[in-house]
Amino acid sequence: MTNNKAPHSSANAEAPLKSNSEFVKRYVGIISLIITILIIAIFWGFNNRQTKLIKEQLAHEARAFFQEIVQTRHWIIKQDGIYVKQKPGMRVDPFLVDIKGLESAISDEHGQTYLLRNHAAITRMISAIATEDRAFGINITSLTPLNPLNEPDAFEQEALGLFEEGDKEVYGFQKTPGGVLFRFMAPLLTEEACLKCHANAETGDIRGGISISIPAGQVLKEINTTRVYIGISALALLTLLLSVILYIAKRFIKALDKSEKQLIELATTDPLSGLLNRREGIRRFQVEISRSFREKLPLSIILIDIDLFKQVNDNFGHQVGDQAIRLVSEILLATLRDYDIICRYGGEEYLVILPMTGIAKALEAAERTREAIEAEVIQTRTGNEFNLTVSSGVASLQPADSLDSLVYRADNALYIAKEEGRNQVQHLE
Ligand code: GH3
Ligand code: MG
Ligand code: MG
Repeated sequence: MTNNKAPHSSANAEAPLKSNSEFVKRYVGIISLIITILIIAIFWGFNNRQTKLIKEQLAHEARAFFQEIVQTRHWIIKQDGIYVKQKPGMRVDPFLVDIKGLESAISDEHGQTYLLRNHAAITRMISAIATEDRAFGINITSLTPLNPLNEPDAFEQEALGLFEEGDKEVYGFQKTPGGVLFRFMAPLLTEEACLKCHANAETGDIRGGISISIPAGQVLKEINTTRVYIGISALALLTLLLSVILYIAKRFIKALDKSEKQLIELATTDPLSGLLNRREGIRRFQVEISRSFREKLPLSIILIDIDLFKQVNDNFGHQVGDQAIRLVSEILLATLRDYDIICRYGGEEYLVILPMTGIAKALEAAERTREAIEAEVIQTRTGNEFNLTVSSGVASLQPADSLDSLVYRADNALYIAKEEGRNQVQHLE
């Protein structure tokens, strides 16, 4: 039989050992937090990288387009402009009427008129076609445009300012009423050929820039969809990982708690009787003494010793002796209160701590246990029968007492009980 009573008594308020499962719980919490941060960081990294790659891809596209326009303009400048067939609504370019050696309009022998157009006008025409066909926007502009149609917008103005500071290109997303645009702009540098018309400029000067606008709403929408997919995957992965960690941790904590309980039981229990061992009994005794002094409550102890136990061993053997020790333990557990603390103090000696008990009630309890033990008939396997008796020493806590002085008095009372003929209870207050 195990000592189920004493470990659950009031003295159990102070756990003898600190639980390891608290440490495990804390570490599992920290590990879960690290994994969560890691997954969020990875998700964030992927997300940023994707946005960056898309931006670079759009910039690459815009850059190629910019080069194409610049080369077309070079070619037109080299030709000093080109003549285009006049169509209804087309007029002579007022900016080209005064250029020396060039007619702003010519006619052929059939009376068909051709109008001179420079690189800027041609680029505008190409830009119009590109805008129609590919939904691209192209604008050639400068901070001091000759043509008021080429006034820069806010993005272009800022980009032109940055070119003055040395930037080679500027790009980014811009929200507009018509949707999100990818805006790209690179500078146009003044070349020899430009000086003909832009007289006060110098070669190498920033003449302005070409800005390219690509509708990016669809691309950004797709990025967002991918972002949602990655987010859901990250969340699923996180849930899975945390669930696995939680499951493993729970099983680990359960096993740990179980082994801890076993360890505590091993460390505090007497294997033969199942009662508390001497060390744990004394530890609880000390706790009870402190509580009694603190709360001004009475406390008594009983020291019990089996009478003439040597004879039991001698007459019936050591095993029967063990059986007798277990039997007395069971009787003590059955006759004392749940919150009394019972420990095996020595070979065939028991220490009972009676919290909140004065001397009178302690003597009653001691007498009750003595009678119960005396009344029990022990039967051996070989068919022998015999009775056990015990002698008990009782003492109650006094204001000047320590654990040792209290045990000392109980021990002396026990000695007197033995001297007076055994099978009796004596006390010293
Ligand atoms: P008294 O009435 O004066 O106490 O006489 P006693 O024979 O009980 O004397 P004492 O207390 O000196 O002897 C105790 C004996 O208990 C001695 C020892 O061999 C025996 N003993 C101690 N522990 C155990 C145990 O675990 N099992 C068994 N079977 N015997 C034990
Ligand atoms: Mg003894
Ligand atoms: Mg004895």
